[in-house]
Amino acid sequence: MAPHIFVISGPSGVGKSTILNKVMERVAGLGYTVSHTSRPPRNNEVDGKHYHFVSREEFRRMVEQGAFVEWAQVYDDYYGTSIKEVKEKLDRKLDVVMDIDPQGARNIRGHFKGSLLIYVLPPSLEELERRLKGRATDDKDVIESRLERALKEMESCAWYDFIVFNRELDDSVRKVESIILSERCRSSHQLPRVEEVFKIKVLEDGE
Ligand code: ADP
Ligand code: 5GP
Repeated sequence: MAPHIFVISGPSGVGKSTILNKVMERVAGLGYTVSHTSRPPRNNEVDGKHYHFVSREEFRRMVEQGAFVEWAQVYDDYYGTSIKEVKEKLDRKLDVVMDIDPQGARNIRGHFKGSLLIYVLPPSLEELERRLKGRATDDKDVIESRLERALKEMESCAWYDFIVFNRELDDSVRKVESIILSERCRSSHQLPRVEEVFKIKVLEDGE
């Protein structure tokens, strides 16, 4: 069966990584693509795990070499998903999970038909600010610029397949998990397996 591509987006600080970490613990067969970025690491971030941290020059060089399946400028830095990261997951027959911004999500949807896009929203702007401040990983001016961008960015949720309000963490984890599991059960995705297991040719729609 062809692997799925799951994209998750949402304003910085909404809880995407927190949700994804828990979903990845609970759902087997998922591979998270570690992005490249030119932004400096936060104090708790590990190179190769949270991001591949590179200089702006190195990032531009990779763009010129065609190393990215998608990349974008987000805030003042570059972020991109390398072809190598995606291919490695596909070769291992894993479903691919990406945490990328709406520009990247649009590009991925163009590249991989059938990819599924999930947008995570905060319960309110005030709560987003609380989470950004509570995370205590960014300077005051960085937090302000991210909050300023949040409302504009959230307009993109209109063209995503699913929207999840991240109020209670456990509830959001269950929702994202359910979306992934439901997508895996989609009949169009399962039919090749039905044919293989039962050695039958399934009827096309309307036959
Ligand atoms: P993102 O990856 O979207 O930038 P994070 O996962 O780093 O966001 O989460 C930002 C902060 O919000 C973290 O301190 C995290 O513990 C907290 N957080 C995430 N989800 C919730 C939630 N449902 N309720 C309260 N705090 C949350
Ligand atoms: P942060 O700096 O908070 O980790 O991420 C900032 C934004 O960049 C988030 O919206 C995140 O989804 C996005 N992002 C992270 N990696 C990528 C990527 O590889 N490509 C794109 N287009 N956006 C990314």
